[in-house]
Amino acid sequence: QSDEIIENLKTSIKNNNLLDKVKVSLTGCFGFCAKGPIVKIFPDNVFYVNVSPNDAEEIISEHILKGNIIDRLLFEEPTIKQKVKKHDDMSFYKKQLRIALRNCGVINPEDINEYIAENGYIALGKALSSMSNEDVINVIKKSGLRGRGGAGFPTGLKWESTLNASSHEKYVICNADEGDPGAFMDRSVLEGDPHSVLEAMIINGYAIGSNNGYIYIRAEYPLAIHRLKVAINQAREFGFLGKDILGTGFNFDIELKYGAGAFVCGEATALIHSIEGNRGEPRMKTVSSSKKGLWSKPTCVNNVETYANIPAIMLNGSKWYSSIGTEKSKGTKVFALGGKINNVGLVEVPMGTTLREIIFEIGGGIPNGKKFKAVQTGGPSGGCIPSKFLDTPIDFDSLNAIGSMMGSGGMLVLDETDCMVNIAKFFLEFTVEESCGKCTPCRIGNKRLHEILTKITEGKGCEQDLYDLKELAETIKDTSLCGLGKTSPNPVLSTMKYFMNEYEDHVIYKK
Ligand code: SF4
Repeated sequence: QSDEIIENLKTSIKNNNLLDKVKVSLTGCFGFCAKGPIVKIFPDNVFYVNVSPNDAEEIISEHILKGNIIDRLLFEEPTIKQKVKKHDDMSFYKKQLRIALRNCGVINPEDINEYIAENGYIALGKALSSMSNEDVINVIKKSGLRGRGGAGFPTGLKWESTLNASSHEKYVICNADEGDPGAFMDRSVLEGDPHSVLEAMIINGYAIGSNNGYIYIRAEYPLAIHRLKVAINQAREFGFLGKDILGTGFNFDIELKYGAGAFVCGEATALIHSIEGNRGEPRMKTVSSSKKGLWSKPTCVNNVETYANIPAIMLNGSKWYSSIGTEKSKGTKVFALGGKINNVGLVEVPMGTTLREIIFEIGGGIPNGKKFKAVQTGGPSGGCIPSKFLDTPIDFDSLNAIGSMMGSGGMLVLDETDCMVNIAKFFLEFTVEESCGKCTPCRIGNKRLHEILTKITEGKGCEQDLYDLKELAETIKDTSLCGLGKTSPNPVLSTMKYFMNEYEDHVIYKK
């Protein structure tokens, strides 16, 4: 639909002889998926929602030519029950702080000049012209940035460890193998602001002494792949990528590698195996990738969102970044907000924002007057959090403490009509399907867990099944080889912890 809207806007501009006065610019995602397609008019800063191709002519004839705002295309803010003109007036955006998403919905991702106009590639110029590799790593370390792919490992330490590994050949990898169902944080960054990731990877290469980078991206992301290819070619043309970058003698280039959709390839060792042309299976982490990674050389793997933060940190400084967030989790986090929520979309909030603020203020609450029951964070391996924790300020550690996890940023809201046993079964189906089969607890254990859950949801389970379910879930968690298996029982364990009554309602008790 968006393509049609753009075409119709262009036609109307031409028909009204406005070609030299009005420009239509394509952008990435605005994040407000519930109300798309969106058209924003500059310099008035008016934000139109739910625009259809048929509205294009009226936007030109009424708004552009006569200055009349089209009321029916404005968003009605539920908190004040009034139409609002600007996105800054909407509660969906008010509590957000967009650092990783700063250019999404702002620039044309296929035009490097628009990225440069938003201070793009200045961080790279600063690093190459006036900073040593240690200086760059110190900025990242002091910023407190932790990896946004799920594990939350301190990014600066990872870079430092790769710098200190002795080898004349090192690699940089961007993990863009986003696989959580319903999660599209990385896709949006790559579609809306690909240069920020390229710039960060080049800075990463300079900081650790690497000349080669790979972006491992799902083949199911054709638009992101297209925009990355356009961005890579433009960056090469402008001298930001390739040989002798900005005349400094530093060489760095980036190659795309395509994943075939296996969830486990988001795990760093499996991803490295896959790039090497092997089956994408995790391996025992006896040595970290920063010492022995791709082709057994020191390798620095970071995910898309982590990279999207880097140019902003380099430009604004570590002090600025570390002033945002909580004591141990600095900066912001992007969440894909979905499920039973009014404002489905992509949101970026400072760490420490509460679940209540995200769900009820930014997300606009639960549709159809239904009651909130739980929120599942962390993707298919995350835990289900009940309403008593709605005021928990979210960060890596607080989510772990209540039996869930940050993961890469999936956030699924559930209402009073959802059965928590079915939800646990639904997520387990996904992990059973995606287990690579290498180790027994995950390959066999998750299948058995799923069988017990099926028995319970069909009303055939007994009290013993509840004991078996818990014991088996804990065994899988303790004994699986990689993160996928270790976290796969989380939906079962968290729902048993907080919603045991629903399990009990399903089972037959022996008299
Ligand atoms: Fe494969 Fe699962 Fe074992 Fe990970 S835990 S290696 S996904 S079988």
